[in-house]
Amino acid sequence: MNTPYTPYSEVLKSKGLSGTRIRKVTVNGGFTCPNLDGTKGRGGCTFCDNRSFSPVAGDRGLSITDQREKGTTYLRKRYQADKFIAYFQTFSGTYAPVERLETLYRQALEFPDVIGLSIGTRPDCLTPEIVALLEELGKKTFLTLELGLQSAFDVTLEKINRGHTFEEFARAMDLCSRKSFDLCVHVILGLPGETKSHFRSTAETLGRWYYQSIKIHPLHVVRGTVLEKQFLCGEYEPMEMETYISGVVDFLERIPSDVGVQRFTGDAPEAMLIAPKWCRNKFGIMEAMKSEFERRGTTQGWLLDHPEAVEMGMSRVKDTAHGLHGL
Ligand code: SF4
Repeated sequence: MNTPYTPYSEVLKSKGLSGTRIRKVTVNGGFTCPNLDGTKGRGGCTFCDNRSFSPVAGDRGLSITDQREKGTTYLRKRYQADKFIAYFQTFSGTYAPVERLETLYRQALEFPDVIGLSIGTRPDCLTPEIVALLEELGKKTFLTLELGLQSAFDVTLEKINRGHTFEEFARAMDLCSRKSFDLCVHVILGLPGETKSHFRSTAETLGRWYYQSIKIHPLHVVRGTVLEKQFLCGEYEPMEMETYISGVVDFLERIPSDVGVQRFTGDAPEAMLIAPKWCRNKFGIMEAMKSEFERRGTTQGWLLDHPEAVEMGMSRVKDTAHGLHGL
């Protein structure tokens, strides 16, 4: 590995899934979300517009089989992909009766070239019965459950109208830890009222669980959301790229090195993205992250291997004068 962080491909390799061109094929199970349908809230998270993060958010009318066919045909042509992970990304992918979930997940797995499932959900959409289903499927296929946390601070979760608490996330992680399926944690840096010290605390809080991958992205403003209104009236100011880079490196220094990084920026379509525009520059962000790790002389998980640096209230940085990396 020649990156200072662990790419997700390393996790796939450790599962014997290397040597093939694997792509996620997004499918829409027709779910909604308890934070939209009134069960937990209405209006959803302040940043949420599912169309901005899922290419099939509007495909509810198509069967899972048709969506899978359409998606895999495109991915074969575009990326020469030959194996697929069916990805229930839209809304809350476990928000349905367990019998319906089983039917949908099994439909997605029917095709021999689909080698796994990835399911994104909220921590308050899991029951012991659903976890038992995931456990059963996880024994037969490569299954990853993505749990959205966003921040370990309840005050922030309230500000973004998240509709669940950190405690609910903790219960879900406890319920799902060390099962036959993988866990991926989703966090957002740059949420309203948060600074780099919040990002660091969120990373440290995750240290109590065993999970296999992480998705991190900077908060971005997309058209038609509550966050857009807050941005337009000056209530919310997006992070500068430099702040994000130092924040995400601070974060990753506290994440175990065997956790694969699935994502370090968002990819909202250009037409929907209002700010910050730099978050679409994936290559630029990756290069800046690498440079920042190099400048500090650290890597992902470095602070876990050097607890003395935390105890001393400092880390091995070559230049703290500009305040990028105080603990
Ligand atoms: S939990 Fe997900 S789908 Fe539901 S409102 Fe929040 S971002 Fe949107």
